[in-house]
Amino acid sequence: MLRKLHADCCEVSTPAKLNLSLEVSAQRPDGYHELETLMVTINVFDTLRFTQAPAGHLGLCNHWCVSRQHHTTPDSLPTGPDNLVLQAASLLLRTTGVSRGVDIDLFKRIPLAAGLAGGSSDAAGTLVGLNSLWNLGLSLSDLSELGARLGSDVPFFLAATTAAICRGRGEIIEPIRLTTSLHFVVVKPAAGLSTAQVFQNCQPAQVPISSSGLVRSLQCGDLGRVGLQLFNRLGAPAEKLCDQVSQLRDRFTRLPVLGHLMSGSGTSYFGLCHNSQQARQLAGRLRSTHPGQVFAVQSCV
Ligand code: ATP
Repeated sequence: MLRKLHADCCEVSTPAKLNLSLEVSAQRPDGYHELETLMVTINVFDTLRFTQAPAGHLGLCNHWCVSRQHHTTPDSLPTGPDNLVLQAASLLLRTTGVSRGVDIDLFKRIPLAAGLAGGSSDAAGTLVGLNSLWNLGLSLSDLSELGARLGSDVPFFLAATTAAICRGRGEIIEPIRLTTSLHFVVVKPAAGLSTAQVFQNCQPAQVPISSSGLVRSLQCGDLGRVGLQLFNRLGAPAEKLCDQVSQLRDRFTRLPVLGHLMSGSGTSYFGLCHNSQQARQLAGRLRSTHPGQVFAVQSCV
């Protein structure tokens, strides 16, 4: 994940994730929902480059690495203090009290508002990158505690595991060891969805569905059963808010995949494939008929 380029510059690659299950069991007094979600990192990456700068200077330059034909919305990627990269850098300065500066180049490939957690992954990458560049000496558990303040998915990316069950509001991580690579075809339609809006429209489960069966199937490499156990409580509210998600569900129902699901709070939709060849072949088919971005991906190793 972290590469030192030279003494005053380093680079971090930050992956996207897919949720293979996501249950919402209750709204908490703090306004968050109680979750149980199984997440896997996939090989679509943003890259962050950190270059030492005079103390007090926090610079960010976004580079959009996806061509215009892909219906993404580069305009909604904040360039200022709302960007999670700058929020992570500011939080590190505030909590450690050090006097440092940095110029950050963000090479963006993970689609926005897609349920792929690109922003959270960038925030995790920034904590790791600046901890190294600025020689802060913070432990993984320190970084994780800071990460949870920036977003519920951030600790997952800091855990540096391919897969994990995430509980609480998502910040309590139980790593899962995958016995086999997972191959997916992923479609990000033109529309995006706001995570907050999808949760507002979600009815928490009376009897929550546990991810333990899915974990067992993953651990014994039974992909057929994994496909049958994919589940997302946020799918129904997302479909109500966005036609493109229900259209994708219909489309995937007619594809020969092992199972299919919306990731996170949408709008990305994925199919679990038999192997990499099938993922590439289905991506080709979907690209020719479907507007949006289409990826053939696999779980990170
Ligand atoms: P999640 O699955 O965690 O809900 P998401 O994939 O739906 O995440 P992101 O693209 O990570 O959503 O972020 C949502 C919003 O956060 C974006 O639309 C954007 O306005 C804002 N944002 C701030 N910083 C970043 C960043 N570095 N990368 C992406 N989005 C960012």
